[in-house]
Amino acid sequence: MIHTNSDNPNINKDRKTPPTIIVIFGASGDLTARKLVPAIFNLSKDELLPKRCFLIGYGRSKISDEEFKDDIKSALDSHSRRKIEDSTWNSLEKNLIFHAGAYDDLKSFTELEKKISKIENKIDCKAQCLFYISTPPGVFMPILENLGESGLARRHRGTKTASKVIIEKPFGRDLASAQQLNQVINRRFDESQVFRIDHYLGKETVQSLLVQRFANSIFEPVWNRNYVSSVQITVSEDLGVGSRGGYYDKSGALRDMIQNHVMQLLALTAMEPPSSLDPESIRDEKVKALKALKPLVLGGDSPDVIRASYVEGLVNGSPAKSYLEEKGIPDESETETYAALRLYLDNWRWKGVPFYIRSGKRLAMKASEIVVQFTRPPAILFGQDSRLKVSPNLLVIRIQPNEGVTLYLNSKTPGLETKLQPIKLAFGYETTFGSNTPEAYERLILDSLNGDGTLFIRGDEAETSWGLLTPVLDYWNNQGREGLENYASGTWGPLAADKLLLGSGHEWITGRKYE
Ligand code: NDP
Repeated sequence: MIHTNSDNPNINKDRKTPPTIIVIFGASGDLTARKLVPAIFNLSKDELLPKRCFLIGYGRSKISDEEFKDDIKSALDSHSRRKIEDSTWNSLEKNLIFHAGAYDDLKSFTELEKKISKIENKIDCKAQCLFYISTPPGVFMPILENLGESGLARRHRGTKTASKVIIEKPFGRDLASAQQLNQVINRRFDESQVFRIDHYLGKETVQSLLVQRFANSIFEPVWNRNYVSSVQITVSEDLGVGSRGGYYDKSGALRDMIQNHVMQLLALTAMEPPSSLDPESIRDEKVKALKALKPLVLGGDSPDVIRASYVEGLVNGSPAKSYLEEKGIPDESETETYAALRLYLDNWRWKGVPFYIRSGKRLAMKASEIVVQFTRPPAILFGQDSRLKVSPNLLVIRIQPNEGVTLYLNSKTPGLETKLQPIKLAFGYETTFGSNTPEAYERLILDSLNGDGTLFIRGDEAETSWGLLTPVLDYWNNQGREGLENYASGTWGPLAADKLLLGSGHEWITGRKYE
C-alpha cells in the first residue's frame, strides 16, 4: 500500500523489478489508449519501471512499429494525467514494438516468443513478461491457451522473472464460464502468476478503506451488528449506454458492475481483520465474507432483488432517450440497466445487518459511495419529538467523484434553544493531498510487475461472487420482461427499489441532501 506519486517523499523507488517486457493483447483498443498506455508512461516518469522495459503491442492489424509509436504518442497526448516530457518518451519510445497476429493462432504466439527471446539476447539477461489481456472477453480463452501452448506462460517459472498475466474484466458471465476460465488458467499458470483485474481496487479510497478500518482503533469496536444498522453501497452513472449498446445488452448492471466492483466493495467493508497484509491473508478474508452471504430470495412478496431499465427523462437538464431507443438495443431487450439487492451475511459480526447495494445507468448523478449507518442513541434526551430530529450517524466513504470520507454527527445549532442539526467532518483527498494522484491502472500495473496480488481478484473470489449471483441471472432469464421495472432517466431508480428498505427504518442515502 505505498503511494506511487512522485511528489510523495515516501515513494519507494528501490524496487528490484527485473527487466520487463509488457505485452498488450488488444493494443489498438480503447482501454489501451485511454488507460494502459498513460499508466505505463506515468510509471516510467516516476521511475517506477525498470530501466530496461519494453512494450509490445499485439493485434490483428498489420501495422508497423512506427505507426504503433504514433498511436501511443497520440494516446498520451489525449489521455495522460500529466505531460510526458521528451526524456520519458525517449527512454521508452525506442522500446515500443508491434507484433501483428491473430489471438487464436499458435504460430503468432511462437513468433512472439522468438521476439521476446531476441530482446533478452540483446539486453543479455532474462526479462519478466507481463501479458496484459485487454481484448473483448470472447478471446480471453484462446489467448490463455496459446500463452500456455507456446511456452510463454512457463517462461522462467519459479524465478523472479516468471511470466505474469493480467486479465481484464469481465471474468466470465456466470459461474460456469468463470469456472471454465479458471480451469484453463490453472492448467497453464500458477495462481501467483495471475492478476484478475477490477480497477476499482486500484482507486485510492478503496485501498484506503483497509487502512481506515485497521489502522484506526476507533472504528473496529463499532464495526459490527451492535452499532451498525445498515450498510449501503451505490455505484451510479448518469450516462446511458452510449455507443456500447451492443456490448451492454449482453451484460446488464448485475454482470457489468455488481458482480465485480460492488461485491468487492462489500467484501472489503465486511471482511474480518486479516492476520497480515500479505495478499493471501487479505483475499482469504474477502472470500470468507463473500461466502457468508446468504442466498437471495428471488420471488414472492418481498424479494431481495430488483431490476429495472431506464425510460426517457431529463439528465442534468437535458432530455435523455429510453434504453430501448438506444443504438444497438433490440426491441425485445430484457436487460436491466439498474439492479438493487438486499444482502445479509450469516456470521457473528454482521448477523441481521442489511447490506443494500445498487448500481445503474442514467441515474441522477455519477457517484460511488459506501455508507455505513450507525444505530440511534439508546435514550431520547432531546424532547418529546426529538427522535425525529436525531439523525443517524453516517460514515460516507466516497470513491468517486471527489474521493474522500465524511462522518455525519449531530450537533447543537447556536442559540438559546436546543435544536439539533447533522454536521459533517469531511476529508477530501484532493484538498489534503492535492490533485494528480496516480490512476488506478498505475497502481495495478505496478503491483502486478512486483508480483503483489493484494488488489486483484483470486479465482475463488470470482467464483464465490458468481455463485451467489448466477441464480439471480437464471431467475431473471426465466422471467423474461416480467418483473423488469422502469425508471425515468435522471432519477435515482425505480420506486420498487425503495421496497427493499421498507419497514427497516432505512432509506437510500446517496443522493439525499445531508449538506
Ligand atoms: P475494444 O473493443 O476496444 O477491443 C480491444 C481490441 O481487441 C480491439 O482494438 C481489437 O484489436 C480487438 N478485438 C475487438 N473485437 C474483437 C473480436 N471480436 N475478436 C478478436 N479481437 C477483437 O475493447 P476495450 O479496449 O474497450 O476493452 C478491452 C477489455 O477491457 C475488455 O475486456 C473490456 O471489458 C475491458 N474494460 C474496458 C474498459 C474501457 O473503458 N474500455 C473499462 C473496463 C474494462 P485488433 O483488431 O487490433 O486485434
